Amino acid sequence: MTAHLASETQRYLAQAEEFGAHNYHPLPIVVSEAFGAWVTDVDGKRYLDCLAAYSALNFGHAHPVLVDVAKAQLDRLTLTSRAFHNDRLGPFLEGLAKLAGKDMVLPMNTGAEAVESAIKVARAWGYRVKGVEHDRAKIIVANGNFHGRTTTIISFSDDPDARDDFGPYTPGFVSVPYGDAAALAAAIDDDTVAVLLEPIQGEAGIVVPPHGYLAEVRRLTLDAGVLFIADEIQSGLGRTGATFQCDNEGVIPDLYLLGKALGGGIVPVSAVVGDASVLGVLRPGEHGSTFGGNPLAAAVGLAVVGLLETGDYQRRARELGAGLRARLDALVGRGVVEVRSVGLWAGIDIAPGLASGRRVAELLAERGVLAKDTHGSTIRLAPPLVVEADELDWAVDQLEAVLADLRG
Ligand SMILES: *Cc1c(COP(=O)(O)O)cnc(C)c1O
Repeated sequence: MTAHLASETQRYLAQAEEFGAHNYHPLPIVVSEAFGAWVTDVDGKRYLDCLAAYSALNFGHAHPVLVDVAKAQLDRLTLTSRAFHNDRLGPFLEGLAKLAGKDMVLPMNTGAEAVESAIKVARAWGYRVKGVEHDRAKIIVANGNFHGRTTTIISFSDDPDARDDFGPYTPGFVSVPYGDAAALAAAIDDDTVAVLLEPIQGEAGIVVPPHGYLAEVRRLTLDAGVLFIADEIQSGLGRTGATFQCDNEGVIPDLYLLGKALGGGIVPVSAVVGDASVLGVLRPGEHGSTFGGNPLAAAVGLAVVGLLETGDYQRRARELGAGLRARLDALVGRGVVEVRSVGLWAGIDIAPGLASGRRVAELLAERGVLAKDTHGSTIRLAPPLVVEADELDWAVDQLEAVLADLRG
């Protein structure tokens, strides 16, 4: 694909290759501008963004409300550290707690930090509230999970790329098959303090557990006196047609982990949201972050909460998602073996032997659609929720054409 790339793009790619660590393998597209669901590269070519930065751009690029709030805040106050209060943090904490129907919020920056924070909270809760013997706390996770990239988090990953050569690993985690409530029940014992799950496994390829699984997890954890931590960093904040994917399953976890779209695609903002009986275990000095809860992040985060309170984005995800699903289902047997989707979030398994997911993503990019492969043969589609129905239709037309070309 590199042979016919335009000159600006080639110059940039050589620079990134020489001076950047090679921990990513991006498609050779160099974006320089974006608005809504569309991005423009350095050579002026336009693409429909069907990845939305892994759902960090649920509200689209440069959402006018979010950009206005960020610009106004930049002129006023950007950082105080938590040594002092700032006048933006309180409103954000209250807004987000009420959106989630919980008592309180622990603000952090990246998704991985929210996960790490929840692990610490769950352990402290286990020792101080549940009465687990010191240093024995156990957290149950699921096979195929993705919760971030820190050393503790990759300790309970089963992806060799994420994990190999980064040990020694943090103990205290047990992994069970995803979607299997009986296996989870069997793994719970007196030392179990929490179950940590993605309500839908995003990086694994939009893996949707059987309906009723999350409700069963909730029942089991309540019965056993174990926390249920829902990592909604990718599934939450509108993507699945609800504020939280847990809403779709009628489930209320003890802790929500949020990130990605919480920063409106402008700044990294993450949070652990829960009740005082759990989050209240943290005492001054036990946890923190220099940038966590900074006024710029809080201002943008509060504006994001405001967008979600309208319900418009959740409704768009439901409506557009239904249309997308109908179009994708029609591709099964024509280069696609399986489609999984909830709201405006789809995983499309390309027929074995036809082409790799990477190749399909490259061919889509040539046709002006940005999407990302995962786990070899799956294409994931997660456009900004501001995308229009006809744009989405056009994107599926391009996928259809790519598959037709590959099938000859
Ligand atoms: C992206 C993601 C994370 C990690 O977020 P970062 O901001 O990249 O650290 C954690 N959990 C889930 C489910 C994610 O999709």
